[in-house]
Amino acid sequence: MVTIEIQCLDCQGTGIYHGFAEPVGVGVICLECNGKGGIKISYTPFTGRIIRDDIHTVYRSRGNFIPTGIGPIGNSITYQDFLKGKKPK
Ligand SMILES: [Zn+2]
Repeated sequence: MVTIEIQCLDCQGTGIYHGFAEPVGVGVICLECNGKGGIKISYTPFTGRIIRDDIHTVYRSRGNFIPTGIGPIGNSITYQDFLKGKKPK
């Protein structure tokens, strides 16, 4: 894990939050960064694809929105072919 400091997403680095509840010209101290303007985040750098041992067949995804359809679609390839760089049609 690596920890870095980034510009606060809630206040765009200003330390001051102004939303619909604040009158014109009035700001409140940002709750996310406590007015600092920056927040620390931790992440794991990508060092290469991790191999799964529970998958043997790979398809394209229909999507992730249930009303329009989810799950596999099209033709499949083997997981070994996917690891070699192939993609299913
Ligand atoms: Zn902030």
